[in-house]
Amino acid sequence: MPQRILVVEDEESVSNLLAYNLRKAHYEVHIAADGRQALQLARELMPDLVLLDLMLPEIDGLTVCRELRRDSQVPIIIITAQGEEIDRVVGLELGADDYVCKPFSVREVLARIKAVLRRTPAVFPSSDKIISGPGQLWLDTEKREVKVQKNQLALSKLEFDLLHLLLTHPGRVFTRDELLEQVWGYDYAGDTRAVDSTIKRLRTKLRTTHPPADFIVAVRGIGYKLTQDEAS
Ligand code: CA
Repeated sequence: MPQRILVVEDEESVSNLLAYNLRKAHYEVHIAADGRQALQLARELMPDLVLLDLMLPEIDGLTVCRELRRDSQVPIIIITAQGEEIDRVVGLELGADDYVCKPFSVREVLARIKAVLRRTPAVFPSSDKIISGPGQLWLDTEKREVKVQKNQLALSKLEFDLLHLLLTHPGRVFTRDELLEQVWGYDYAGDTRAVDSTIKRLRTKLRTTHPPADFIVAVRGIGYKLTQDEAS
């Protein structure tokens, strides 16, 4: 069965170009031309991935991203234009998995889609449905939900998978390369900065506890681990 991609883009020339190339790469493609349609189609079609332009009529892309994350872990790649760096950062904080900048090459978009889709949660050994961590942290592997002190967090697929791995190996130090291999599931062009930036976003989201605590700690010169301490 082909994987289903929802392309959200109001510029017809761009959505046509993407649709043509994605179909050629054997994906099933659906197009939404505004934010309202995007949310509707995402609910109806349950796509495997959403390619989301941020500048949209009706409902803007960031709002679409936030709305999608309320009840879905669908991988989201945002498309930003030059001068939209802030939106890009906000988009990632809202739970987008990756981004591409306009003007983009089709080859780059395809590579990113492939990479995001390839990150599979199948590598995780624990069969427990609910995993608990420090500071009233709960992770539901079936619903793919994370709660801290009863507050549900909006995590991207990648952030969820990363936290899942750390939670199932408390206290174990993972090197950046190990995290790349196990969570990203491939050699992310050897770019360990991807690990650092994802960890940083995850930490910020986890720091919603009272008092704020860091559960993920950097181990100098090695990598990261999940601390067992309640306070830090
Ligand atoms: Ca647009």
